[in-house]
Amino acid sequence: MSRIYNFAAGPSTLPLPALEEASAKLVDFGGTGMSLIEMSHRGKIYDAIHNETVALLRELFLIPEDFHVLFLQGGATMQFGMVPMAFLKEGAAADFVLTGSWALRAVEDARLIGETNIIWDGKDDNYTRIPSMDELTFNRDAAYVHLCSNETIGGIQWQDFPDTGDVPLIVDMSSDIISRPLPWDRLDMVFAGTQKNLAPAGMALVLIRKDFARKARTDLPAYFRYDLHIDKNSLYNTPPTFVVWMTNLTLKWIKSIGGMAEIERRRKRKAGLLYDMIDGSGGYYRNPVEKASRSQMNVVWRLPDEELEKKFLAECDREGLNGLKGHRDVGGIRASLYNAMPVEGAEALADFMKRFMEGNG
Ligand SMILES: *Cc1c(COP(=O)(O)O)cnc(C)c1O
Repeated sequence: MSRIYNFAAGPSTLPLPALEEASAKLVDFGGTGMSLIEMSHRGKIYDAIHNETVALLRELFLIPEDFHVLFLQGGATMQFGMVPMAFLKEGAAADFVLTGSWALRAVEDARLIGETNIIWDGKDDNYTRIPSMDELTFNRDAAYVHLCSNETIGGIQWQDFPDTGDVPLIVDMSSDIISRPLPWDRLDMVFAGTQKNLAPAGMALVLIRKDFARKARTDLPAYFRYDLHIDKNSLYNTPPTFVVWMTNLTLKWIKSIGGMAEIERRRKRKAGLLYDMIDGSGGYYRNPVEKASRSQMNVVWRLPDEELEKKFLAECDREGLNGLKGHRDVGGIRASLYNAMPVEGAEALADFMKRFMEGNG
């Protein structure tokens, strides 16, 4: 078997031990004569996996007791609609910080439901930076503030989260969930599609403060009701059992390597390798992002021209360095360094960048 280094932005690389365990048990789960994904989601075996996954999330990510942990379908995009449907009530408005493509998607959906205010827009800088705290003024009567912690396409990341006081803060963490500890006291809701840092596609992890959840509208079709999902422990309808299982296996892998501390150490090392290479290239590789806003999950860069970028990508493929093409909206190169990307992958990429520059300078 030969695995390549997969730098794709999502779906993306998963821990090998998690994939191996799933494949070993796929046909016969623990001597039951059937697969976990063929079993009832109401049975004892699935129930144990489901609850263990919640417990592992709480343990590894230090999620406080006053937050609910939910597994919902429809990915992060579903939350772009579900949040305003539940929390953006008649006569209220929500604040949005526009840092790039994903914050924009969220506000576009919210506008269909109610009033929105853009309190900061990075358009003039081509979405290459996160605002500083003193550039932000939150509306005191806003229903909530929405921001995107890591813009997966632009490669910028909030290093810290603003204190929004009494205004609830909702953060889309689809591309940096479980990659760093969070200041839970400032947050009211966090959501993330699972296919970047946790599991296959098909689910959103939703963490929601109990007080805030009580404000959600209940006069909505069943699936859009946070209160129902909370009452039923994400088992109101059939949950995506395979994705929950893979999330469970990924979390066990994180625990086995040393938990969040080790995840953080690897994250800094991987991002450091690439940014050092870019910064030391004498301008051959260019990262368009303001230094203080650089993402440690998605590193983006350009080469001197587009022909060289094509050549770079073609040679990467031959080196077993895959999925590096920048998003179609922005072009260039993008390396996604999610939790399951080994440090050796970033080393191999940095080494290749050096050789490519020397051969094509
Ligand atoms: C990928 C991504 C999304 C969309 O996620 P889906 O699960 O495909 O709906 C939303 N926000 C961010 C920051 C993303 O990276």
